[in-house]
Amino acid sequence: MRIAVLLRDRCQPKKCAHECIKYCPRVRMGEETIVVGEKGRPIISETLCAGCGICVHKCPFEAIKIINLPEELETDKVHQYGKNGFRLYRLPTPRAGEVIGILGPNGIGKTTTISILAGLEIPNLGEYDSKPSWDKVLSKFSGTELYNYLEKLSKGQIKTSLKPQYVDKLPKVHKGKVQDLLEKSGQPDKIKELITDLELEKTLERNIDELSGGELQRVAIAAAIAKDADIYFFDEPSSYLDIYQRLKVAKIIQKLSEGTGKMVIVIEHDLAVLDFLASTVHLMYGSEGAYGVVVQPRPVRNAINTYLSGFMKEENIRFRDWQITFESHPPREEWESEELISFDALEKKFEKFHLRTAPGIVHKGETVGVVGPNGIGKTTFVKMLAGVLEPTKGKVHAKVKVSYKPQYIKPEFEGTVKELFYTKLGERFEHPFFKSEIERPLGIKTLYEKDVNTLSGGELQRVSISLALSSEADMYLIDEPSAYLDSNQRMEAAKTVRRVMEKRGRSALIVDHDMYFIDLVSDSIMVFHGEPAVFGVGEGPFDMREGMNKFLKEVGITFRRDTDTNRPRINKLGSVKDREQKESGEYYYTGS
Ligand code: SF4
Ligand code: SF4
Repeated sequence: MRIAVLLRDRCQPKKCAHECIKYCPRVRMGEETIVVGEKGRPIISETLCAGCGICVHKCPFEAIKIINLPEELETDKVHQYGKNGFRLYRLPTPRAGEVIGILGPNGIGKTTTISILAGLEIPNLGEYDSKPSWDKVLSKFSGTELYNYLEKLSKGQIKTSLKPQYVDKLPKVHKGKVQDLLEKSGQPDKIKELITDLELEKTLERNIDELSGGELQRVAIAAAIAKDADIYFFDEPSSYLDIYQRLKVAKIIQKLSEGTGKMVIVIEHDLAVLDFLASTVHLMYGSEGAYGVVVQPRPVRNAINTYLSGFMKEENIRFRDWQITFESHPPREEWESEELISFDALEKKFEKFHLRTAPGIVHKGETVGVVGPNGIGKTTFVKMLAGVLEPTKGKVHAKVKVSYKPQYIKPEFEGTVKELFYTKLGERFEHPFFKSEIERPLGIKTLYEKDVNTLSGGELQRVSISLALSSEADMYLIDEPSAYLDSNQRMEAAKTVRRVMEKRGRSALIVDHDMYFIDLVSDSIMVFHGEPAVFGVGEGPFDMREGMNKFLKEVGITFRRDTDTNRPRINKLGSVKDREQKESGEYYYTGS
């Protein structure tokens, strides 16, 4: 089976010469394989197309995908967005009393999947020209495990609750105070409990548009859980939360399903959190904007190991040409490169916040992972290094120029992504280093013709990381780069940051809460602790073993190693392994 997909957000018929049509050999032979449709966009006939791929290569904006798929998928089509549009194959099966995870790249239909299971969209089974009907859907799924669920859903007998992906958009939908929003969401007793569990007391009297990303996330989670529902959907619940909050949220979500008969479905890209939270995971594969396939559920350990390997053996599908690997013993290398910056014990006092940091050194080429709770002074510390803030006590030795990617990014540019890059980078935009080390691995090229204002959260994140890494600086501070990136993109971003620092002899401080990402990106670790918004203490950079031990001791968790892949897995609190590792002081690395 061959599918021809037009990525409408990339197709620019006014800026091209319709190369797709001009060079199609079938069109040249007089067939109507590609014709001009609405607004000058091409319409491709999948029956006439010979699959030569010429249009794919000739289109200057990479707007066409021609893909061969196994024939058997055709009967599993669940939804299609128009002719030459995206299509989704198969659906996950919700199960009572279980947290089911969905894991896969961005842009392959995870949100569509949730919309269908939440009853927000009736699947058209690929018949995009006619009105979708539940009768057809039920007859298609008759005899399957999903039938009962879909039947009840079609009759309005399933109550659903959804925590949406982009919590930053919450202030546009809800106005007023947090307290009012929560009161409207569910039973007073339940809300009271959630306010305590999610530490929302201090936000109640504030307006929604005054909240930080982490606060918005917790309010959205509380509102979703407070609702009385049969099935709960959480679309990326850990974005903007620190590791303490991620674990807390994971436990609350687990409790929601345990012994209650409730169904829970979670989309999550933080693999350590997903591993801890879900019991079963549906992997998804596909091609961004073209198609997505939901595969049979696997136990969570097996699903994540398969995901890291890049190959699904049972389905014979390779979805990444490299494996993601972890070391069970810490890197041994001593820093031999020159020092970039050193600092004394620093102190900064504000009216309501007080930060103290121990003396330290950052070397050229070093990437320092910065870990700790939100609101603990990590950004204040970097501003002191950059000379933007004067320490109340202590001195920073050397002046460094800092390039900064903030935690919360807003699309504040009128124009296309390409125009944004030209404006910010000038000639550097054409430099081979930018093209090979930043543009290609972060997949920016396909975004160039898009308006900055229309970018998704993940696209905006990739653009912001690219801009920060391309700026001329001695030190790069990248604050929460993993937010809205899928697991694959996180690994690519980690490799990109390390390569850029090593090759250019610069240094990076990476603030993030995804432990797999921190493991892959860091040469050393800086640990912050204290009481958020009251006082913070910063120590390091330490080598990986010492840094991870100090940090995880603060959090109170240990990681064991997966026997097949060496990847870190959070130990159950109080388990034999947890107690043994705490006694020996080895919270993260188990090898010597
Ligand atoms: S698919 Fe490419 S070549 Fe064809 S009209 Fe769109 S932008 Fe132009
Ligand atoms: S793949 Fe080849 S035959 Fe098919 S539409 Fe493109 S150019 Fe024409």
